[in-house]
Amino acid sequence: MIPYGKQSISEEDIAAVVQALRSDYLTQGSRIDAFEAALCRYTGARYCVVVSNGTAALHLAMAALQLEPGSEGITSPITFAATANAMHYCGIAPVFADIDTLTGNLCPTATEQKISEHTRLLVPVHFAGQAADMTRFHTLAQQHNLTIIEDAAHAIGSCYTDGSQVGNCRYSKATIFSFHPVKTITTAEGGAIMTNDPDYYARLRLLRSHGITKDEAALHQHPGPWYHEMQALGWNYRLTDLQAALGLSQLQRLDEFKARRQYLVERYNDALAHLPWLATPVELAPGSSCFHLYVARFKFTQLGKTRADVMQTLQRQGIGSQVHYIPVYHHPWYQAQRPYEPCQEAEHFYQECLSLPLYPTLTDEQQDMVIAAVRALDCGGNA
Ligand SMILES: *Cc1c(COP(=O)(O)O)cnc(C)c1O
Repeated sequence: MIPYGKQSISEEDIAAVVQALRSDYLTQGSRIDAFEAALCRYTGARYCVVVSNGTAALHLAMAALQLEPGSEGITSPITFAATANAMHYCGIAPVFADIDTLTGNLCPTATEQKISEHTRLLVPVHFAGQAADMTRFHTLAQQHNLTIIEDAAHAIGSCYTDGSQVGNCRYSKATIFSFHPVKTITTAEGGAIMTNDPDYYARLRLLRSHGITKDEAALHQHPGPWYHEMQALGWNYRLTDLQAALGLSQLQRLDEFKARRQYLVERYNDALAHLPWLATPVELAPGSSCFHLYVARFKFTQLGKTRADVMQTLQRQGIGSQVHYIPVYHHPWYQAQRPYEPCQEAEHFYQECLSLPLYPTLTDEQQDMVIAAVRALDCGGNA
């Protein structure tokens, strides 16, 4: 079976975890600091807080902003539910603005139209690895006094149009990553928040571990060595040293993963671009995207098959595919919150998108099988 996405674990990755397992600290040891420092070096951000998963990263990044209840946050409907769910955790109402039809990313013009007197937060998602238009979001944020948190769960290893690394936070308050196995590098479960703001960083660290501090400089009193204070209502969102060991090892392989993903995408594009009923994904600046997903756009009507037919035909040949994404406001829980006006481009995108297998260990031969199966979709009758 060829899945749509999959991790790559090397013998070095395994050895790194085993070594951590034999050390004194299974959690909150030196590997946490080392992984955070390595993520700062890679992205160019000043500070990093690693956490238990990407959703926890979104939650902490938003909670640390301490926005007043009733605030609104604007995000893309073409994302994983966690992006908007994190707003709900913080009493922020998500507002969905439409996407740019070419990239599937949140559209700055549509975003501007959704800004109200309650808007405090913008959360662009770097969909499939392609960086969103951060220069325009940055300008919007300055004009309307909004905070930006980038959901870069798909985009570690990607670059902005200025060529700098996603995660450097030059356009935002914070950027979050996910290290779930299907994402570009993995710690099994895991996530990170990058920022350049020292006070915000201190708040994130406090909230990651119950809001408790032992830092003498931050304590209200210091009666003895046992003493610590809970200064805010936080969570246990810590990552373990086993996971940090895996993350450190995986991060060393990120450039190799990116090169392989770029190579596979080019091969798909060359083989599929001529099909009249399929559009290949767009990369705005060549070499910029770390391509978490290969999202093809199918004109299913022109092909004469439904998406369910296509997925089943591929499945019978051992090929997995997936839809990224169902617009978040379609989900029953969102429908039950309040009526959402559909975003037209997002609806259109949802009708056409289908992600084909893309991961570093996908072999050329396996990819040729996928290509042949996709090309053959317009032969013969219905599935
Ligand atoms: C995967 C993902 C998340 C959540 O990350 P987890 O580590 O699975 O909690 C958030 N946003 C987007 C866009 C994602 O793809």
